[in-house]
Order: sequence, then structure tokens, then C-alpha cells
Amino acid sequence: MPSAREQRKARLVKEAESVVNELLDWSDNTPEPNLSQIEHVVLELRKRFSEAMVREVIGAQEAKQAAIGPPCPKCGQEMRYKGQKKVTPQTWVGDVEIERGYYHCGTCKVGFFPSG
Ligand SMILES: [Zn+2]
Repeated sequence: MPSAREQRKARLVKEAESVVNELLDWSDNTPEPNLSQIEHVVLELRKRFSEAMVREVIGAQEAKQAAIGPPCPKCGQEMRYKGQKKVTPQTWVGDVEIERGYYHCGTCKVGFFPSG
């Protein structure tokens, strides 16, 4: 049974490998690319791998937070986990669609995504 870290590494290596394969496929099928074509492909692939890294790190944070509900930002009571919701935070690497844990405070009757 691989450790959680090994599983995370395997996911990232797999993503990196698919990016590398795509670059090589493109290179094989594009005999004489000009500089702007090369830039376009490389930036696109870099963006994809950057997003995978962001998702991986955010996913690990979420897993740590899932054990106990975070405190309500208003009243400090432990909030209840209400399931995963899709969000698309804008990061400098681009828009990364991820699932985040959503929590609800029974006292304040409001829902929050924990900060992060
Ligand atoms: Zn509250």
C-alpha cells in the first residue's frame, strides 16, 4: 500500500508525463514550428501542469481539514461539513476548477468555504 505522499507524487508524475507526451506528439507532427507556435504550445502545457499542482496542494489541505470542522469565522463554533461544492478560484496560473468542502454554522445559519 503506497503512502499518501507516494500516491500524490504518482498523480503528479502521471500528469507531467501526459504533458511531456503531448509536447513530443506535437513536435513529431509539427516538423518546422515557428517560435510563436512553440511558445503557444509550451505555455498551454505549462498552464495545465501548473493547474494540476494547484489542485494537488489544495486537495491535500482539504483532506487535512475534513477530520474536524473549522471554527465559524463569526462565532467560533465548530461548523458542520455540508459536502463538496465546485468552485473556480482565479489563480495566477489560471482558473482552476476544484471541489471544496463547504461548511455551515448552525448558530449563525450561514455557510462558508474555509479560508484558503
Ligand atoms: Zn457561527
